[in-house]
Amino acid sequence: MATIFTKIIKGEIPSFKILEDDNFYAFLDINPLAEGHTLVVPKNEVDYIFDLEDSILAQMNVFAKKIAIALKKSIECNRVGILVVGTEVPHAHIHLIPFKKESQMSLSSPKLNFSADEMVKIAEKIKIQL
Ligand code: 5GP
Repeated sequence: MATIFTKIIKGEIPSFKILEDDNFYAFLDINPLAEGHTLVVPKNEVDYIFDLEDSILAQMNVFAKKIAIALKKSIECNRVGILVVGTEVPHAHIHLIPFKKESQMSLSSPKLNFSADEMVKIAEKIKIQL
């Protein structure tokens, strides 16, 4: 069965898209730890990130870097952290988290709640910096 991220990539489930190319799709996390919390996902559905082909894993990091630079420019933060956990959704993904406090890098920290309008505005200000 397709993962929820495959459904998002195919447009079957809506998302606040940040960037897409032939191999990767990036979108705002629906339960963000920080404003601008973004997920980077390979279009090819692989569960465990270290099962990805070497070249895809390398390209995924370069793709994530481009977004991290845009996040740093658009969101007030100390730096953009990366996190890979993958225990909730069995589809490899990198969390990009523009954090102010180190505690925001923990998935067990409280999540923020933005309205759909706010999420659209957050995505727009990130995309301008790409
Ligand atoms: P992990 O698998 O690394 O533990 O976390 C999965 C992440 O995916 C969580 O941060 C969760 O909020 C996010 N997530 C789960 N379902 C959806 C969804 O339908 N849309 C979006 N945008 N994010 C989701």
